[in-house]
Amino acid sequence: MPKAGSQYAIATLASHSCLQILKGAKDEGFSTLAIATPKTAPFYKTFPFIDEIITIPTFADFPKIEDELVKRNIVIIPHGSFVAYLGFEENKKMKTHYFGNKDVLDWESDRKMQREWMVKAGINVPRQFKSGEEIDAPVIVKSYGAAGGEGYFFAKNKGEFADKIKSFKPTKYVIQEYIIGVSLYIHYFYSPLNQKLEIMSIDRRYETNVDSLGRIPSQNQEGLNIQPSFVVVGNAPLVLRESLLPQVYAMGQRVVETSQKLMGPKGLFGPFCLETIITPKQEFFVVEISCRIVAGTNLFMEGSPYSQLLYDEPMSTGRRIAREIKLSVQEGRLTDILD
Ligand code: AMP
Ligand code: AMP
Repeated sequence: MPKAGSQYAIATLASHSCLQILKGAKDEGFSTLAIATPKTAPFYKTFPFIDEIITIPTFADFPKIEDELVKRNIVIIPHGSFVAYLGFEENKKMKTHYFGNKDVLDWESDRKMQREWMVKAGINVPRQFKSGEEIDAPVIVKSYGAAGGEGYFFAKNKGEFADKIKSFKPTKYVIQEYIIGVSLYIHYFYSPLNQKLEIMSIDRRYETNVDSLGRIPSQNQEGLNIQPSFVVVGNAPLVLRESLLPQVYAMGQRVVETSQKLMGPKGLFGPFCLETIITPKQEFFVVEISCRIVAGTNLFMEGSPYSQLLYDEPMSTGRRIAREIKLSVQEGRLTDILD
């Protein structure tokens, strides 16, 4: 039986959740490789669990080193920077062993298809309005392809929407009901090897300025014309009221089961995140699904209150990915989890 680590090295782009992924890979016995840019390489060199660093001028140059990665039997772990700097199409074209099912990318990258997936899974999604005329509640307007909350605007009613849309540059966007509640990002891991779903951890995003507006009382904000914006700058840990956990678990299960019907038997596996907003009535609305490791898991390099209940050792999502690869090598099922 090949020893994990002797045959395969785990690699990723040096940003986002690279440190967590490569630390986890090293803990599971793999050799590790970071693909960095000249500016970031010196920082990544300081970490002893990174065996090798390849430097490329920009992340967009990744395809140029692929032949070498293929030759070396590298396994790539995709994270948010792959989508942000290479785009979904380049991700799909990748020749290097890729942890995950690339068919999922089609369903994730198209807002309509993503919504269809959630609805079929019995997940609550915010109402959407086809045009400004239909608006009867506060809305958030999201351009297509935007990431990390950039390029969104908030309008409290139809009139404000009509005003703001005039200077909004993107031509493709959705108008979604703005859900007032607590944002909650649930990190799951689904194992195709044992067909079990795990809740790994939960975070809250910290978005500027929407999460800090409350620091200035509303009477002092008057006249300042402050507009809420949703650019993510950090994450904070959160544990959920325990009575809500079974519901959260069931939502994840339905998303996985539905993916298997929509995308073929492999469906969605590995780490994914439901980005939810929970209302005072304790209803969950899913505003987005991310079908890979999300940066909020960086809070839990040593595991979370939930992963501690499942594992008697520190288990980050990054390490959980490496564990899955190791087990699949041992069971001779590596092709089941690579694309
Ligand atoms: P970066 O490599 O930091 O530019 O991140 C790549 C993508 O991941 C961007 O679209 C970011 O918006 C997203 N991202 C990065 N860090 C975080 C974070 N801490 N929480 C949520 N999303 C993030
Ligand atoms: P997204 O790009 O869909 O993950 O959204 C980025 C951020 O915008 C989220 O983290 C929320 O803070 C906010 N947001 C997105 N959709 C909604 C919504 N329907 N209601 C309220 N806030 C939202």
